Formats: sequence, C-alpha cells, structure tokens
Amino acid sequence: DKKGIGRLRLVGSYDLHFYQPEQIKRVRLVRRADGYYCQFILSVDVQIKTEPTNKTIGLDVGLSAFYTDDQGNKVDNPKFLRKGEKKIKRLQRQLSRKQKGSNNRKKARQKLAKAHLKIGRQRKEFSKRVAYSVIQSNDLVAYEDLRIKNLVKNHCLAKSINDAAWYQFRTWLEYFGRKYGKVTIAVPPQYTSQNCSNCGKTVKKSLSTRTHVCSCGCQLDRDENAAKNILRMGLSTAGHTGTFGLEPINALGELTSTLTGAILLGQVDSLNKESPVTSLCD
Ligand SMILES: [Zn+2]
Repeated sequence: DKKGIGRLRLVGSYDLHFYQPEQIKRVRLVRRADGYYCQFILSVDVQIKTEPTNKTIGLDVGLSAFYTDDQGNKVDNPKFLRKGEKKIKRLQRQLSRKQKGSNNRKKARQKLAKAHLKIGRQRKEFSKRVAYSVIQSNDLVAYEDLRIKNLVKNHCLAKSINDAAWYQFRTWLEYFGRKYGKVTIAVPPQYTSQNCSNCGKTVKKSLSTRTHVCSCGCQLDRDENAAKNILRMGLSTAGHTGTFGLEPINALGELTSTLTGAILLGQVDSLNKESPVTSLCD
C-alpha cells in the first residue's frame, strides 16, 4: 500500500476475487464522519437485455413532489429530507453557539458531520430505488437537464437537500438506463412549465400557481403539464437526432467515477455511502 497501514480485512458480502486485478482502476481510503472506508473503483461493462415495456415517461421534479410524471402520478418527497433538514439546522445552531477551539465545538462538529452523512446515505438509497423502478417500467425516460452548478447556487437548505437528491436521481437514471438498454433524455428546462402541453401556447405563471389553465380548454396540475412538455421534447429529440442522451455526465466526476464501479455498489454501499453534495448545506 506504500502508506504503511499494512493489511486490511475486507468486510462485506461480495467477493472481490470475482474481478481481475486489472479491472480495479483505483483503490482509495476515504475518511467519513463515522470511520474509514476503502473504496474500489472497478471498470466493468454491464449491459442487461430487457423486454420492451412499450412505455415512455416524462418527469418533472419539484419541491411539492419528488417527481410528477406526464400522467399526473406523483412520488412524494421522502420524510427523511424534512426530518434531516430540521436536525441539521438544529445541529448547526448548536455548533455556532460553541466556543471556537473548544472540545465541545469539536463534538458538535462531529455530530453535524454524522447527520450530513446519514441524510446523504438515505438520499442515495432513495434516489437509487426510485430511478431503478422508473427504468424498469419504461423504454424511454425524459427529464429536465438541471445542472448541478446552477443548483448549488441556492442557499435555501430545504431546496439544496432536494437538489442533491434530484441530481443523484438523474445520475442513477442514466446509469440504470445504460445498464438496461433504455433511452434517457435530458431536455432543456426552459419553458417546460410555462407552455401549454396541449396547444403549445405560453401561459405565464408564478411559482405559487399550482394549476395550468389555458384558453384552449386545457386545465392540468402545473407539474403534470410540465412533465407532458418534457416527454414531448424528449421524444422529438430522440426522433430527430438519434442522440439518446446516453453520454455520461461529468459535472460531478466524483459521482460518475463511483458509478463506474457500480457492480460493487452493493458492497461499497454498505461500507461507504458517498454523499458528495452534502457539504453544500454548510
Ligand atoms: Zn393550450
């Protein structure tokens, strides 16, 4: 190991010997708030053939629901996001009251770090599970191309926690999409909520307007209208250019490289739940 830490015992249910040594691209030790972890990055080509479902789906993510699809189905924001947000706020307050350089401050910081770690792990499990089920039930998935750079800009804690979850959700969608041979398309986020999904006319609405009402007679839940627009844009992109949005996203190299080794994730998961974006809540 050239670092003098000696031999380590591998804990977990997967057998690392299943892989050739040259498939292991990187091994690193990671320090998390609750201990040290060893991370293996593996280069594995996974493609699993599936039967066509003959279904397509458009997804709109938002604060009122984790996502709304083009049929108006909603997946609620998980409770842990709210609960975690409350806890983090409380711990942050406690930390700020402690004297600089004191032992109590160190303890408070450790507590806060653990809370971030926990919500990061929960978020990952949630977004992975939801993305998996969306990919399993559809041949084509369209969603908004929300960039992490823009997302990180906002300083509202509730929103930043959600943003991180959506970003992970998207990353998992694209990962499972490649793995199961499904089409995933990120469409530009402009006008998806303002345009009428029925006639295309622009119907201006503020964030608080929850219903889309158009002069053409179309009346829909705001997010459902957006999801319908997203799906249509996705389908037209797929039809015209044939670029299926399958290119890997690299906005967050950390996350992407973790996904390269996703076959090991079952194992890595239990040991090291990456939470690369949690720090944006600090
Ligand atoms: Zn209309």
